[in-house]
Amino acid sequence: MAMRYLILSDIHGNLPALEAALEEAQARCDQVLCLGDVVGYGPQPNECVQRVRQVAAVCLSGNHDWAAIGKMNTEEFNPLAEEAALWTSQQLTPENRAYLESLPSLLEYQGFTLVHGSLREPVWEYILNAHIAQASFERLTTSLGFFGHTHIPMIFRDDGQATLPSAWLPPAGQPLEVREVRFLINPGSVGQPRDGDPRASYLIFDDQTSTIEFRRVEYPIEDTQRLIRQAGLPEPLALRLALGR
Ligand code: ZN
Repeated sequence: MAMRYLILSDIHGNLPALEAALEEAQARCDQVLCLGDVVGYGPQPNECVQRVRQVAAVCLSGNHDWAAIGKMNTEEFNPLAEEAALWTSQQLTPENRAYLESLPSLLEYQGFTLVHGSLREPVWEYILNAHIAQASFERLTTSLGFFGHTHIPMIFRDDGQATLPSAWLPPAGQPLEVREVRFLINPGSVGQPRDGDPRASYLIFDDQTSTIEFRRVEYPIEDTQRLIRQAGLPEPLALRLALGR
């Protein structure tokens, strides 16, 4: 059956950003998939987990999800991330904690692969360049894989000929065909974009036409910033949202 997927990643407790993406795209799609880091950094972890539980067919676990449930220690986090992770772990309700504990870290789903970080290290490796992507292509058993974690929308393409995969930053709002060769695709971050564009980033994947479309949507950043301040979370976490960094 042909399906259209709304693919979200790195929501990071930013409910206004999540709602904006859902409002714009959910009605156009058959299923919502989430690539992890539902919580961490942002001021509404419970609200975001509950929304993901409602709408997502599947969700993967990210490093911030693990940190929030005590499954990973935060020593390797930067001090701001660590502070937010501790705050998040104190906020989570037992139900939402149990949901985060239940998430898989790597999943083959409907003929494609889903992971937060990479196929080599599913929860914490960043696929930032072609060399790192190559190690994941070596482990990829499907032709398409979707990953998150870097907060930067990106495509890696492996044609099986070149010594290294090619990488590019996709333009938003322009459908691209992903067929014949293999691709690793990052939808960017819903709740904390880091590519200089502060709008929420997400992806639509149509498996009938094998097309993907990267999209950006504005959301009320000042609402999230106000909640970050009310929660007493570090001020830089509010400021960075307006910069997309
Ligand atoms: Zn993240």
